[in-house]
Amino acid sequence: MGTGTGSSVVGKGLRSAGGIILTFGENQFHVDPGIGAVTKAAEYGINLRATTALLISHSHIHHANDANAVIDAMTLSGLDKKGVLIANKTAIHGTDDHQQAVSPYYRNLIERFIAVDRNQRIGVNDIEIQTLTARHHEPNSIGFKFFAPGITITYSADTVYAADIVEQYMGSNILILNVPYKKKVEGNLCIEDAIKIIQKVNPRLAILTHFGPEIVKADPLYEIREIQKQTSVQTIAAKDGMVINPVSYSASAGQKTLQGFKQGSPEAQSHTQ
Ligand SMILES: [Zn+2]
Ligand SMILES: [Zn+2]
Repeated sequence: MGTGTGSSVVGKGLRSAGGIILTFGENQFHVDPGIGAVTKAAEYGINLRATTALLISHSHIHHANDANAVIDAMTLSGLDKKGVLIANKTAIHGTDDHQQAVSPYYRNLIERFIAVDRNQRIGVNDIEIQTLTARHHEPNSIGFKFFAPGITITYSADTVYAADIVEQYMGSNILILNVPYKKKVEGNLCIEDAIKIIQKVNPRLAILTHFGPEIVKADPLYEIREIQKQTSVQTIAAKDGMVINPVSYSASAGQKTLQGFKQGSPEAQSHTQ
């Protein structure tokens, strides 16, 4: 529900930052409810009341700005206490530099909240979520790996490239990477990093998202072609509102061709950031 980052992309309305909706059967996970999460959900026909779990990788505005508003929508302002909040420590407790992204008031409208560190495992119904190390300007940043029946999906969140970080992504069927920049900028991934990661992890599908102004202006298609050429992995540049049916990329899809890619399946879809 948003594929941008930074004031010159999101601030100018070029792309939004409402997060990613992952739907596994009856479970609806909303990952990184940044700027636009509530308005874009309405625009794209996502029912926030159906949110099973809200996940926050770190407390920057393009990842957590609308967290309180999403909780308000999912719980009918607390009338229906429900759902799970899985958020990094900063989002729940704050740091010297960052306020809590989720206020104590809204946190208490949720049925269960967990302030997670790196390398933890949390079960939500039949989905297992592993928190991953991410190194970024926000000190407690994490990524997420989702183990659902038949499919493993990794979301890097904002991080630098490092061998130990890439190691955590191994075994992913779908790999979602936040790549704001073409060239190296401290604290984030660039296109060259993405190529190295995709080569090593070799997922069925790689999705690049969270684009800064340079990539948005240039249209990421050229980069995507280059990545596909170098990695032989199907790679997509996410667009706001894009829907992907992950079933075609599941482990059980075996050696089936990647042309099974369908849009808009109601039972299994992910609205990329
Ligand atoms: Zn960030
Ligand atoms: Zn970011």
